[in-house]
Amino acid sequence: MSKIIKQTGRFGPFGGKFVPETLIYALEELDKEYRKAKRDVKFRKQLAVYFREYAGRPTGLYLAKRLSKELGIAKIYLKREDLLHTGAHKINNALGQVLLALRMHKRRLIAETGAGQHGVATATVAALFGLKCDIYMGEEDIIRQSPNVLRMKLLGARVIPVTSGTKTLKDAMTEALRDWVTNVRDTHYVIGTVAGPYPYPDLVRDFQSIIGKEARQQILAKEKRLPDYLVACVGGGSNALGLFAPFFNDHAVKMIGVEAAGQGLKTGKHSASLSAGSMGVLHGSMSLVLEDKFGQIKNAYSIAAGLDYPGVGPEHAYYRQIKRAQYVSVNDRQALEGFSLLSKTEGIIPALESSHAIAYLKSGRKIIGKNSLVILCLSGRGDKDLDIIAKELKI
Ligand SMILES: *Cc1c(COP(=O)(O)O)cnc(C)c1O
Repeated sequence: MSKIIKQTGRFGPFGGKFVPETLIYALEELDKEYRKAKRDVKFRKQLAVYFREYAGRPTGLYLAKRLSKELGIAKIYLKREDLLHTGAHKINNALGQVLLALRMHKRRLIAETGAGQHGVATATVAALFGLKCDIYMGEEDIIRQSPNVLRMKLLGARVIPVTSGTKTLKDAMTEALRDWVTNVRDTHYVIGTVAGPYPYPDLVRDFQSIIGKEARQQILAKEKRLPDYLVACVGGGSNALGLFAPFFNDHAVKMIGVEAAGQGLKTGKHSASLSAGSMGVLHGSMSLVLEDKFGQIKNAYSIAAGLDYPGVGPEHAYYRQIKRAQYVSVNDRQALEGFSLLSKTEGIIPALESSHAIAYLKSGRKIIGKNSLVILCLSGRGDKDLDIIAKELKI
């Protein structure tokens, strides 16, 4: 197995690049530039400066004492990605990719967005470097996520409504790819999670790995040992893989990815591609996806807009296959409980996405065990979700 994972762009049977011929050159160019950048001390230093001075890294590793006590788990540490500029981990990847775009002399960024979080991160780094920025967004999502649409516009980006298909994320992805095919010379396509054709899953993972690298050092400094469990929510899987990857070879460290069971796995209204998906191609790579019996991609659903992606990064499908990580799911109602629990025990209002990971600490606490040392990735803060929360909790 370890041989297969080393094959470029493949994670066992998953990954690859399933794209129109016209994009192969752009993907190769990106791959070449990324390999060069990785070895370039100047690039690494430049990224480190933006991480530190613009985004707010390193983020804290905070021992949540009251939460630990409430759940009967020895020690739960929170990796505080919620404290970053723009409110979530997505800025790590956006900063890395914009620096790559500049190296390739591309003056225009495009991205697709569902909930708007990745669109906001992309619009932010475009403003930071004075680049043109077009964000594709389904018409439905534009209505549902109006505060983020406003943010993107304020940052100087154009939000292009997508009116085809179901007018949501998967249709926006299709439109963004189409734009890239046409404008590949001056345009960089910023993919927001560890999905898409090679080299995206690799480079997004590497940019997000700062989460796990910091957490590893921080836990060793605080506890003089590695954690028993890593827990993170999984949409496309970038915050989870960012935490997990630097611990891959620490075999005693167990990893749990938490997907959204939405209204329940049996209802079909969920976004649990790892728990309930099948092998298929989405967004240019082979992975586990939600599809109907004709192979058409289905719409994903979750109360957390950032989790309702009908696929998952190919490396997670691989981690699951080789049993390096375990994947579980929690539903909307549990996530809301997780949300309230963290707010009231620690004074931290989490994103609904991250609330899924919190919720699993409760539903899975027997499995985790009372003596365990846990690191949970708090991927984002909850400000963006307050309208939904108010409605759901009838406040
Ligand atoms: C987008 C988002 C996620 C899901 O994306 P991943 O790629 O799975 O990390 C999780 N949490 C927050 C706060 C997000 O904005």
